[in-house]
Amino acid sequence: MSDRATLTVVIPIYNEQENLPELFRRLRAVFDQLTDLDCSVLYIDDGSRDESMRLMVEQNRQDARFRVAELSRNFGHQPALTAGLMLADADAVVLMDGDMQDPPELIPELVICWRQGADVVRAVRRDRAERGLKRIGFELFYKIIDWISDFPLPNQTGIFGLLSRQAVNELNRMPEKNRFLPGLRAWIGFDQRTVFYDRQLRAAGEPKQNIWRLVRYAMDGFLSFSYKPLRLMFGAGVIVSLCGFVLAVSFVLKRLLGYETAPTGFTTLITVVLFLGGVQLMAMGLLGEYLGRIYDEVKRRPMYIIKQVHGDPRGHDSRNSIAVPEHHGQTA
Ligand code: UDP
Ligand code: MG
Repeated sequence: MSDRATLTVVIPIYNEQENLPELFRRLRAVFDQLTDLDCSVLYIDDGSRDESMRLMVEQNRQDARFRVAELSRNFGHQPALTAGLMLADADAVVLMDGDMQDPPELIPELVICWRQGADVVRAVRRDRAERGLKRIGFELFYKIIDWISDFPLPNQTGIFGLLSRQAVNELNRMPEKNRFLPGLRAWIGFDQRTVFYDRQLRAAGEPKQNIWRLVRYAMDGFLSFSYKPLRLMFGAGVIVSLCGFVLAVSFVLKRLLGYETAPTGFTTLITVVLFLGGVQLMAMGLLGEYLGRIYDEVKRRPMYIIKQVHGDPRGHDSRNSIAVPEHHGQTA
C-alpha cells in the first residue's frame, strides 16, 4: 500500500453492455495520465439485466482497480450514486454516468481543481447534445428550478464532478431518501468550482431513465429545495378569494342601489366552478407530493441493498475478487 492520494470514480450502471468496453478503455487511458494518484473505479450495478454484470466482473479480473458493487435490484440513478458515495473511501470521488455522456477525459481537469483546494468541482455543460422536446424539457427544468429554489442551484449541472473526502462525508450524513444530488452538492457549501465541457450524446443504447423517472427527478429537485410551490398555491387562493369577495360586494351594492341584476349565465357559472375545482385538486395534488415524500422519509427504508461486491470496495489495488457482502445499504 502506497501513501499516495486515492481517487475513485463511481459509475452507476444499468444495462450498459454496449458502453462498458469503451468505458474501460478510456478510463484506463485517463488513469495512465494520473500517475501521482491511486485511481480506481467503483461500478454500481443497478440491477442490470443484460451482460453488464458479466462484463464488469471480467474487467475486475483483468484490472483489479475496476470493482463492482451489485445492488439487489434496480433502485434508480440517485440511489445507485448514493451507494457509491457510501462505499467509496478515496480522498477524492468522481461521479459520472456510464453512457459516455460524461467524458472521462475531463477527470484530470477536475483533479487539478481539487489539488488547488476545491471540495466540489462541478462539470458544467457548455452545450447539450440533446435536441427537440427533451432539450426543451431540460431548459425549462433549469429555468423553473432557478426561480423556485430557495437558494441558488448551479445551472446546467448534472451529477458529473468531483467531491473531496470532506464533501463526500457531508453528503453521506444526509439521511433524505428523495435525493437530488446536484442540489445537495450545492447545499453543502465549501470551496465549489466549475469546469466546462461539451455534453456528448449517449454513445450507445437507449437512455435508461424513462421520461417519468426524469419527471420525478425534476419534482424532487423542485420540492426538496423549496416551499415556494406551496406558497404559490396559497397566493392563488388569496387572489381567487379576493376576486370572489369583490364580486359579491358589487352584487350586493347593485341590488341595494336598485340596479337591475340580470341572472348571470349558466356558462359563466360552470366555468368558474370547474376552474376553481381544478385549482383545488391541483393544490391537493401538490400537497400530496410533499406528503408522499414525507412518508418516504418516515418509513426510513434503506435507499438501496447491496447484494455483493466484486473486488475490495475500500482498499485500492487489492486482488481479491468477490468479497463478503457488506450491509452498507442500512443508512438510516
Ligand atoms: N442508471 C442507473 N439506474 C437506473 C437508470 C440509469 O444506474 O435506473 C445509470 C445508467 O446506466 C447511466 C446513468 O445512470 O450510467 C445515467 O442514465 P441515463 O443516461 O439513462 O440518464 P440521462 O442521461 O437520460 O439522465
Ligand atoms: Mg445519459
